Amino acid sequence: MRFLLPLLLVFSLFASAQNNYPQDYFSNPLEIPLILSGTFAELRSNHFHSGLDIKTQQRTGLNVKAVASGFVSRIKVSHYGYGKALYITHPNGYTSVYAHLQKFAPEIEAYVKKHQYEQEGYEIELFPHADELPVEKDSLVAYSGNSGGSGGPHLHFEIRDKDERPMNPMLFGIDVKDTTVPVVKSLYVFPLDENAFVNNSQSKQKLRLTALNNGDYVAESIQAVGKIGFGISTIDRQDLAANSNGVYNIQTFVNGSRNFELDFQCFSFDETKHINQLIDYEHFSKNKERLQKLFKKNNPLSILKSTLNDGVLSIQDSTNSVYKIRVADYKNNESWVTLQIKGSKNSMSAPQPTKTTPYFIKANETTNLKAVNVSVDFYKDTFYDDFYIDFEVKNDTLKLHEDVVATMKDFTISYDVSQYNSDDIDKLYIARLIGYKQFPSYTYTKRQGNTLTASTKKLGTYALAMDTIKPTITASNFKNGQWLSKYRFLEVKIDDDESGISNYRATVNGKWILMEYDYKTKTLTYDFNDEVITDTQNNLKVIVTDNVGNNSTFEALFYRK
Ligand SMILES: [Zn+2]
Repeated sequence: MRFLLPLLLVFSLFASAQNNYPQDYFSNPLEIPLILSGTFAELRSNHFHSGLDIKTQQRTGLNVKAVASGFVSRIKVSHYGYGKALYITHPNGYTSVYAHLQKFAPEIEAYVKKHQYEQEGYEIELFPHADELPVEKDSLVAYSGNSGGSGGPHLHFEIRDKDERPMNPMLFGIDVKDTTVPVVKSLYVFPLDENAFVNNSQSKQKLRLTALNNGDYVAESIQAVGKIGFGISTIDRQDLAANSNGVYNIQTFVNGSRNFELDFQCFSFDETKHINQLIDYEHFSKNKERLQKLFKKNNPLSILKSTLNDGVLSIQDSTNSVYKIRVADYKNNESWVTLQIKGSKNSMSAPQPTKTTPYFIKANETTNLKAVNVSVDFYKDTFYDDFYIDFEVKNDTLKLHEDVVATMKDFTISYDVSQYNSDDIDKLYIARLIGYKQFPSYTYTKRQGNTLTASTKKLGTYALAMDTIKPTITASNFKNGQWLSKYRFLEVKIDDDESGISNYRATVNGKWILMEYDYKTKTLTYDFNDEVITDTQNNLKVIVTDNVGNNSTFEALFYRK
């Protein structure tokens, strides 16, 4: 038996690489084969994707089924984000999540509407008890849709553990056909300190990639000295769709020893913000390409496995190294990148001096920047690294660096507006100026006396803007005075320039009606099946308020019998 032990150990290593999660517990939430437009943990704006995006044949209204028995533990309806979302908690401790839904299955829909009518609001969050809405495995729970911040019909599906951490659903045997290897889009090398040089330069450099027939790559050789690291842009495609999705695992090796690993099995929501430190944030901000750093510098992300030197290479003069990157999808289809590094002293340029400004940020201290009418407060640990920040105020325009530095938390911008008359103050808001044309974009603004305050995570240019324009409200599928007896829906378009819509309220003959708001189509929709309208002659009244308090009222008559 003694001899068997090492063999068993080897075997169990491979077994644990498979995983210990239940494999047949969860079924497919749809009645069609799973084809993905988004994979778990793929890189999105300010977050990792927390589930799978399952394609729904460009349609809405497909049956969504409970992937296992359990009970509806949470229902959330919001204009943005997940839109209409359903959470089912299962006896094994996991919760499945279904989002961007069109509507819920009849019993759940009735439960939601009852609470929406009680609270007189479309946006709602409910936590039913275990005995209120039990569900069987494979029973209908909802219909797929495109609600909330969804860019096209699909089902967003998640599995969370008992600590609310999103898990990669593939770990549970949810199967997607994939024999296609990942694609490496680009590779960069970074000199990491003032003594590091690559090809006699201290700047980040793009390395030419040559694709081989088997899907692997060779990158151009480099000459380097000092501490360097790499960054990669890579995607994966599955077999049945052309969508560019995220990869599952990235490992790097120096002369055969592994020195870095990224593994997308699970993460927690409070660490998802660190994505901006995982990617080269400045590169993303300027080029819209997400370069994942293959070294761990000031990043607490749990998906970064601690490995030799955290992925940083220390290159000595007169040495030769081979650097390899392995990119794999969940099905272990892998692509390799190989490159030669020749250690050689810098012979050309002297170290570049750091650009300085009068304002130095120490990442682990609070900082206040102040001009006559503007004040900016950074809490400690807003930034990952110390740096010199640009800070300049001209009249009402605040130039606060550029949006090229990753932040971990909100900071506040305060404007003293006492030089404005009080009527104007009511219409002022803090705007972020975007793009070449410096288009003003509303930043949520709180007012207290003569002070306006905005909280934001983005550096950049801000200014005071004024919104004096009221929202617009128009009938969409009917005309004033029309008979609507055969109509199922009543539709109204609402819109607002500048600060944007804050809230709306619709009544018929003085009674509140539920109008569902889709910001993408700017449409409010009432469903006559709600049966709150019983009179023949009906007076519809819709009030819409924008973010600085301008409001409009729309009224129309319609008839039904
Ligand atoms: Zn999604």
